[in-house]
Amino acid sequence: MAKLNKCSFCGRSENEVKILIYGLNGYICENCVEQAARIVKETKAKASKDTQLKNLPKPQEIKAYLDKYVIGQDDAKMALSVAVYNHYKRLNYRGETDDVELEKSNIIMVGSTGTGKTLLAKTIAKMLLVPFAIVDATVLTEAGYVGEDVESLLARLLQAADGDVKLAEKGIVFIDEIDKIARKGDNPSITRDVSGEGVQQGLLKLLEGSLVNVPPQGGRKHPEQQFIQVDTRNILFICGGAFDGIEKRIAQRLNTHVVGFDASRNVAKIDKSNMMQYIAPMDLKSFGLIPEIIGRLPVLTHLEPLDRKALRSILTEPKNSIVRQYIKMFEIDGVKLTFEEGVLDYVVDKAIEFKLGARGLRSLIEVIMMKPMFEVPSTNVKEYEVTLDFARQQVENANMAVLKESTEDK
Ligand code: ADP
Repeated sequence: MAKLNKCSFCGRSENEVKILIYGLNGYICENCVEQAARIVKETKAKASKDTQLKNLPKPQEIKAYLDKYVIGQDDAKMALSVAVYNHYKRLNYRGETDDVELEKSNIIMVGSTGTGKTLLAKTIAKMLLVPFAIVDATVLTEAGYVGEDVESLLARLLQAADGDVKLAEKGIVFIDEIDKIARKGDNPSITRDVSGEGVQQGLLKLLEGSLVNVPPQGGRKHPEQQFIQVDTRNILFICGGAFDGIEKRIAQRLNTHVVGFDASRNVAKIDKSNMMQYIAPMDLKSFGLIPEIIGRLPVLTHLEPLDRKALRSILTEPKNSIVRQYIKMFEIDGVKLTFEEGVLDYVVDKAIEFKLGARGLRSLIEVIMMKPMFEVPSTNVKEYEVTLDFARQQVENANMAVLKESTEDK
């Protein structure tokens, strides 16, 4: 019987494998090829991550990246860029400084809904070198009640790190709608407040940095479940919230502060149309965040309300702006899409008139584009211009109630 050729790596003979590749002095089977390819890929990925972490993007570079996608909001962008940069630095240099311990600075971003908080978080996620998870605080409840336990935040981060605990421990978590877990009322409640103060206490544990038992699948904890232990000391937390009505509290505080001999000078300086810029930690406290949580979120930044000019820029300037997306979509079908002068200003006017904000821009454009999107692909036209008359007609025919709902859902 003829001697069978064998894979020189695993030793399997040619009738045990599907493919056996010949080399100068040996053979390799398809299984070993695949395994070797995996090892090469993983080693390369690790090496490139390591060099990336050594060549950290500077805060100004991070901000420049955010500028490509998010209009305005310079204060928030600066705070985020610095926080992310410092986060990397701490990860890189931990242990080298035995005298000074670099502590992390979690962030809280305050700004009305639709001003770009989530967009900022998502954009920064695209350029991050560490695992990142976005979670919504509204689903959290105190342990033992219907809803998710606070630890589920870390389960998401673990998922983002493909289950690698060490990697997740260096990650960043964005907690959206943090204002929804505010205590109802300024005084500690007498009745149980399962979705407010209880959750804040739970969250505090994570923010402070501790060893937390995380249910691997997220959701609720079960007694018989296996837990994964995650150390949150080096996880950066970024919180965001609309804090509806907080302007009133800021105004009240400013009013009580400006009594004094130079009161008139201070009053003149206050820009009433944008009270958010004067936000201070004590406003968060009067809104219902517990002082311990506020203390663990030392960087407080705000987002500006979007004015007409900002809304107009949002339509066209960001790298993946809604208008660019439609132009691209038509381009794929070989059609050059243009908008008649005035159409985009009209869209902005309507978004302001219906108080739809930035989210409304997309809904309005979608209403206008529905008919051409339906009809144009079946024609031979090579160019299509959206005229002002047509845009007006479509928006006026549309059911505005539907438009409003579609933006509220998001
Ligand atoms: P928030 O989280 O503050 O409620 P989002 O970030 O979800 O608001 O914004 C909703 C949508 O509005 C985004 O998807 C984006 O299209 C648009 N948008 C809001 N603010 C901006 C901005 N500053 N620059 C660009 N687009 C924005």
